[in-house]
Amino acid sequence: MKIAILSRNPKLYSTKRLVEAATERGHEVKVLDVLRCYMNITSHHPKVHYRGEILEGFDAVIPRIGASVTFYGTAVLRQFEMMDVFPLNESVAVTRSRDKLRSLQLLARKGVGLPVTGFAHNPDDIQGLISEVGGAPLVIKLLEGTQGIGVVLAETHKAAESVIQAFMGLNANIMVQEFIKEAGGSDIRCFVIGDKVVASMKRQAPEGEFRSNLHRGGQASLVRLTPEERSTAVRAAKIMGLNVCGVDLLRSNHGPVVMEVNSSPGLQGIETASNKNIAALIIQFIEKRIISLEHAVDKS
Ligand code: ADP
Ligand code: GLU
Repeated sequence: MKIAILSRNPKLYSTKRLVEAATERGHEVKVLDVLRCYMNITSHHPKVHYRGEILEGFDAVIPRIGASVTFYGTAVLRQFEMMDVFPLNESVAVTRSRDKLRSLQLLARKGVGLPVTGFAHNPDDIQGLISEVGGAPLVIKLLEGTQGIGVVLAETHKAAESVIQAFMGLNANIMVQEFIKEAGGSDIRCFVIGDKVVASMKRQAPEGEFRSNLHRGGQASLVRLTPEERSTAVRAAKIMGLNVCGVDLLRSNHGPVVMEVNSSPGLQGIETASNKNIAALIIQFIEKRIISLEHAVDKS
């Protein structure tokens, strides 16, 4: 197969591992910086140009599109889709996953467990917003935040009020969420490929911190999932329309709740914690999909 990886940086651990795994399995791989791709949108002849050449003959494309280049990155991915190249994750699904509000709404509609959550932009009724999620302590999140930045724990009603007011003053979209205290500063990353959780890890926040992000000093370790956690992660991936994703869960008193579904989950933490070759599993998934697509074409 000929595989394209859309990634801004070939030196990133995840990109390197995918290149290695694909090469080991006998495939040709090319890492493309999406921002350097340009496209020709003509009927019947969609093309992608890259550093003076026309990209042709690709069987599959792996999007590793950073949050800051979502708009252009998904446009390039869509162009590959128009050229009938198999996308590991489809452009619509990547776009969907980048919008936290839209993601939670879709998951809620299908009855997936979620923390009780309110959204607001400029509420004139802060008291109502606070009581809607059960009062303090509560978690306030900036919608545009990543890696735990912009996530605040307000322990008292007064603190919640002033943090919400401060974010409002910045004209930001915010999410107000029940604080899952019983999670004890840990969350669970489920790495989903197709209809299976292939690996999982628990991330534990350092002492005195409630955010378990590895970027915030969280420690990863192996964890055994309950059948309910497994099925929640697989359902969340399916609802989002993602073949490969990281589903982050919290263990709450009312069962597993989904915090986030990440469409470009990092490989470093999960490969280290699980000691599994996740990159190879991703390449194998692509191989299987392409074979079944070819069979479907043969039959038609
Ligand atoms: P980001 O997308 O910036 O990583 P998250 O929403 O994942 O933000 O929150 C960062 C961390 O904060 C999570 O990994 C989790 O440990 C903790 N956290 C987030 N929301 C809650 C919550 N409602 N209750 C308890 N802990 C939470
Ligand atoms: N980019 C990483 C991931 O999504 C984030 C790891 C972290 O800080 O929790 O897997």
